[in-house]
This record gives sequence, structure tokens and C-alpha cells, in this order.
Amino acid sequence: MRYSGFRVFAQGLTGNRGWRPAWRKPAPRDAYDVVIIGGGGHGLATAWYLAKNHGITNVAVLEKGYLGSGNIGRNTTIVRANYFLPGNSEFYSHSLKLWEGLERALNYNVMHSRRGLINLFHSDAQRDAFARRGNAMLAQGDDAVLLNRADVRRMLPYLDFEQARFPIHGGLYHPRGGTARHDAVAWGYARAADRRGVDLIENCEVTGIDVENGRVTGVQTSRGPIRARQVALVAAGRSSQVAAMAGMRLPIESHVLQAFVTEGLKPVIDHVISFGMGHFYISQSDKGGLVFGGDLDFHASYGARGNLPMAEHVMEAGMTLMPMIGRARVLRSWGGIMDMSPDGSPIIDRTHIDGLFVNCGWNYGGFKAVPASGWCLAHLVATGQPHPVAARFRLDRFATGHLLDEEGTGSQHNLH
Ligand SMILES: Cc1cc2nc3c(=O)[nH]c(=O)nc-3n(C[C@H](O)[C@H](O)[C@H](O)COP(=O)(O)OP(=O)(O)OC[C@H]3O[C@@H](n4cnc5c(N)ncnc54)[C@H](O)[C@@H]3O)c2cc1C
Repeated sequence: MRYSGFRVFAQGLTGNRGWRPAWRKPAPRDAYDVVIIGGGGHGLATAWYLAKNHGITNVAVLEKGYLGSGNIGRNTTIVRANYFLPGNSEFYSHSLKLWEGLERALNYNVMHSRRGLINLFHSDAQRDAFARRGNAMLAQGDDAVLLNRADVRRMLPYLDFEQARFPIHGGLYHPRGGTARHDAVAWGYARAADRRGVDLIENCEVTGIDVENGRVTGVQTSRGPIRARQVALVAAGRSSQVAAMAGMRLPIESHVLQAFVTEGLKPVIDHVISFGMGHFYISQSDKGGLVFGGDLDFHASYGARGNLPMAEHVMEAGMTLMPMIGRARVLRSWGGIMDMSPDGSPIIDRTHIDGLFVNCGWNYGGFKAVPASGWCLAHLVATGQPHPVAARFRLDRFATGHLLDEEGTGSQHNLH
């Protein structure tokens, strides 16, 4: 069923009785050409681009919970292309372009909003670093504007400009940055992949990966064995556990990241704002809730819920930056399991096992990467060649030393 304004109107006239489920609930078949482990944003996007770009539709996405139950439905929804290093820069630029045509391509309203992202800076050194980053973004063909203090004050008058512990010197404005509704992204890709014949199998946990003579032959699941010629491991925070089923050890640590949302308020924050001196970023959802987050809890964990010290830190950082939010009531907080790589950049590569691919290491930035990640992994699986914009996301870079340390913080997973 195609969605359109006319369809909404016609359904409204007939009591909304004609809507059909957005995707089927098929039973797993015995064999597929490609099995994707993980029904998050990256797994679903990979399935859709395999079908759409390469005509490969004999595909199953196996999800141990329900579609969208992982990080794809837990993030703070920020979409941006403001990376500095060659390797990351062209990849996220490609992703942003895909975001901009995504709703039309999927025939689904993912509520992508180019409301602009402002990264604040609070010192001369930070300004210089952001000026360099802005130039790199412009050189990549994306947009960036260096704002001075007066510009920021005009655009964000509710920040504390008088008594702030860390005075605001200016900001790096990325007008095409913004947000998208995270669940809708999962649902949109799921529906589009299903329409092209991909089987989306929920409540199906992969418990083993079958390898014979150095080649993957299928997977064991909670719903029985499934044969496959190719298997893509796209399990985000659980990547290390799933890779261990094939006897592999990935350079990934799993850490909790928390997010928070307040009660619905009238529109007050028009942009996405990121604090330069504390761990705090914020935007306002279309429902009115202030959506904000901070840094990792700083210890490795598979618990999808956070701890109070980081919650306190995030609240303090928010109050330091914009005291007005002190009156808003927090409705919910939650955590997600982040797949942190040693250099803060992702991995999209084949493995030493024939037919087994890995896509992980998204750190806290994998939501905006969803379109390009799916596009590039589908390209790799279908053609056997890395896509040019993801060519540096190699698994062996930690052995060869060709790291992509965007933050310049060294090889410590929790610092990226
Ligand atoms: C609080 C928070 C805020 C964030 N904010 C942002 C942001 O603002 N911008 C941004 O770009 N990124 C952000 N991120 C990061 C982003 O959400 C993730 O990097 C990205 O969603 C990870 O990829 P995914 O969607 O495929 O992961 P997931 O949705 O976690 O998908 C992986 C799936 O694999 C499934 N799985 C695991 N093991 C198995 C198994 N054995 N068998 C079958 N299925 C299995 C899981 O159930 C899960 O559904 C944030 C993350 C969090 C937690």
C-alpha cells in the first residue's frame, strides 16, 4: 500500500478501516541468500539497499526482540555531517544526502528536520579547532558557518550569557544538520524492505554461526537453523557477543549511553545545540519534549539502562548552559548499549571467514550513519568490493595502524 495525502484523506472518509500492517510477520524459511543479524537501523537499511540497489531480495533480517527495540529507537535523533577526517567526512556527507531524499525514497514520513546544529565553543583554542572543522566541512561540499558570540546570542537568546561558568565565545553552525524521528526511521526501512520481499523475522535470536571449511553456511537461531550463503553481523552493542559465535574477537567495547526527555512544552528550542565544555546536547521533539543526553557512563556494560552519576552530570551541564530548563520535568530516561571502537570510527568490512561481513563500531554516532551504512554494506555484500565512501572502515586498521581517530583522544574506547 502506497502512502499519500490522498490515501489519508480517503481512509479518513471510510473510518480508517483499510490500513494494512506495515510489514508481514513471516515464519523463517530454511535458507536465504543473505541473512542479516540485527533488526536495528543499520540491519534494516542494509536489507532495503540490497533489494533496491542490487535486486537481492532473498534476504532475512533476524531480530531477537522487536524491530526498533535497540539503539535505533533509543538515540537522541541528531543527524549531521560535520566530520573532519578524510574517511569519515565523505561517508557522513553521503549519508546526509541520502537523509535528504529518504522520505520520498521510502514513501514514509521519518520526520527529517533540517533545523540546524550549533556546536558552541568557549575558548580561543576551541574556536580555532571549530574553524578548521568548518573549513573541512566546506571542502567536503557540506555547509558550515562560524558564528561569533553576538550571532549566537541572537539565535539562542535563552542561553546563559551573563554568569555562565564557561562563557560562550561563539559556535559552529551546520544549517543542514538536524533531527529525524528515530522509530520512524526503523519502521520506514522495515516497511520498504518488506515491500521488496525481504523477510523481517522478529523474536528470533541468533545463537550460533555455522562455519565449514572457512566459509559461513548459516546460523542457529531460537527458531531453528537457517542456511545462508552470506551473513552480515549488524548487532551494534551486541556485536562482540555475536562475533564470538563465529570464534572472532572484535576490537569493540560495549558501554551504556543515556538519554532523557521532558514533558511536552511549547516550541522553545529551534535548533540542535551542543555544549562545548560539558557533556550535553539538546533538541526539542515535534511533540514538544526536550530531548537531551550526555556522555557514556564510562564503564563497560551490557545493561541498557544508565546510572545516576551521569544523569546528575548531564542535568548540571544543562543547567549551566541554559538555566531555563530547570523548570521542565523529566518524564523518562533510558540507556542504550554502544559499540565503541578504539578510534571512534566504524567498521564495515568482510571478515577472515568467507561470506561473513561485519558492520559495527558506531559509537554514539550511528543514527545519522544509518542510510550510508546500509548503502555501503549492501554494496560490499553484493559486489564484494568496499564502497568508495566507506573504504577506510577496515577491520584490520587496528593492526596496520591506519586509524581514524576523529576526536584525537587515542586508543581508549570510552573516550570517543
Ligand atoms: C542514548 C543514545 C543516544 C544516541 N544519540 C545519537 C544521536 O543523536 N545521533 C546519532 O547519530 N547516533 C546516536 N546514537 C547512536 C545510534 O543510536 C547507534 O549508533 C545506532 O542506532 C546503532 O545501530 P543500529 O540502529 O543498527 O543498532 P540497534 O538498533 O541496537 O540494532 C542492533 C539490533 O541487533 C539485535 N541483536 C543483538 N544481538 C542479536 C542476536 N544474537 N540475534 C538477533 N538480533 C540481535 C538487537 O536486539 C538490536 O535490535 C545514540 C545512541 C544512544 C543509546
